[in-house]
Amino acid sequence: MVISIFIKDHKDKMTMKLLEFSKRFKDEGSCEQYLREVREERGIICRECGSHEHYWDKYHKRWRCKECGSETTLTSGTVMQGSKLPLMYWFTAIHLLTSTKNSFSAKEMQRQLGHKRYQPIWEMMHKLRSVMGLRDSQYQLTKAVELDEAFFTTDNEEIQKAKDKGKPLKRGAGSQRQSKVLVMVESEATIPTKKSHKSRKAGHIRMVHMPDLLSETVKNEAIKAIDKESQIIMDDSKSHVKLDGEFKGTEKKVVKPEDAPRVLPWVHIAISNAKSMFLNLYHGTKDEYLQSYLDEFCYKFNRMYFGEHLFDRLMIASVTYTPAFKHRIYNKNITLSCG
Ligand SMILES: [Zn+2]
Repeated sequence: MVISIFIKDHKDKMTMKLLEFSKRFKDEGSCEQYLREVREERGIICRECGSHEHYWDKYHKRWRCKECGSETTLTSGTVMQGSKLPLMYWFTAIHLLTSTKNSFSAKEMQRQLGHKRYQPIWEMMHKLRSVMGLRDSQYQLTKAVELDEAFFTTDNEEIQKAKDKGKPLKRGAGSQRQSKVLVMVESEATIPTKKSHKSRKAGHIRMVHMPDLLSETVKNEAIKAIDKESQIIMDDSKSHVKLDGEFKGTEKKVVKPEDAPRVLPWVHIAISNAKSMFLNLYHGTKDEYLQSYLDEFCYKFNRMYFGEHLFDRLMIASVTYTPAFKHRIYNKNITLSCG
């Protein structure tokens, strides 16, 4: 398989990493070997009897339980479970998703892999994004947290219905195209230095696609994402009224729209970076898949200093989670669920 990627700003770095990747994973066998090692390091647990004792059956490429004889395949219990795609595809996708700040559309990934069908590649990408979301959901934001809402332009069934009936679409924040997102970023006060004029440093981030921005809904999501001992920094919007008393401190600021980037710097940087990623890649993102793209954005934001280790980190997460990814067959109204 030949991977030909040209990325303006990262050309040298990217080429180097591509060479390393293709040396490390030159065929299906080297991917199997790596997967086996990663899983054995974490320990194989028998689904039937719970035993940790297994031996490797090299002819069938799977583990057998020493207690009850049950078998565990290389991909069972991982994000790859049930997939008919070669491991090379999964490894390449994990590599491409973790090697640059940019993302890849499923169309581009399909082109790079030279695969005939779009649907399995699209599904693979969404499953990997689900893993990123599952991994990040284990972490609660702490200390000082900036909180605000953002609106992302998407396509959804309401728009389709309005179009079918020939009705004009609404404008502004109430528009059917505006999907609501709650954005929360750990933000630590710092003293600006010569190198950086920023007065706050970002930590972890969480973005949640919201059905609405009612104060009760916002409160419930904030409680899930943020530790109770935290200090919340936000504007005095009606959506935030129920956050008082739920956290150690709440700091509400009266913010004019033009001052928002200064008062809540990191939520605004994150929102504008996430929006430019969507604009570049996912023109016409469906509202129902927005969370998946947000998960990828946040996963990378949270690990921006991991460098080359990001591949191994996502690989570990990929063998840990089997996302219950529900999807539709692309462009058809059949709903399937895959475990
Ligand atoms: Zn067993």
